[in-house]
Amino acid sequence: MTDELPHPEIFAQHVRVGLRGGCWLWTGSLSDDGYGCTGARYTGTTLRANRVAYELYVGPIPPGKQVLHSCDNRKCVSPEHLFLGTLQDNMDDMWAKGRARPRGKSNPKRIYRRKKLS
Ligand SMILES: [Zn+2]
Repeated sequence: MTDELPHPEIFAQHVRVGLRGGCWLWTGSLSDDGYGCTGARYTGTTLRANRVAYELYVGPIPPGKQVLHSCDNRKCVSPEHLFLGTLQDNMDDMWAKGRARPRGKSNPKRIYRRKKLS
């Protein structure tokens, strides 16, 4: 993806720094799920701003890896708040931070309630 990365100065025009917590807020367009988006340099393909920020400021993203947020702010593109992980790491992180909304049989509250009744 390195060839497609937007020019760093153009990318930086959509970043607000100096916020509380050290987040760098992406002020460009957002995806439906609230993540920052930007266009690839030549093709115009939509890229995730956090992935672009990681490649611009940290380094290449190995195949199959996701760029996760330590700050849980989807609009954040601070290289200090981004880290590499797998999809499983992301799920574990969601559970650890209480972002996951368990449903059905995997919902501990429901299992507890069922046990209590029987
Ligand atoms: Zn952040």
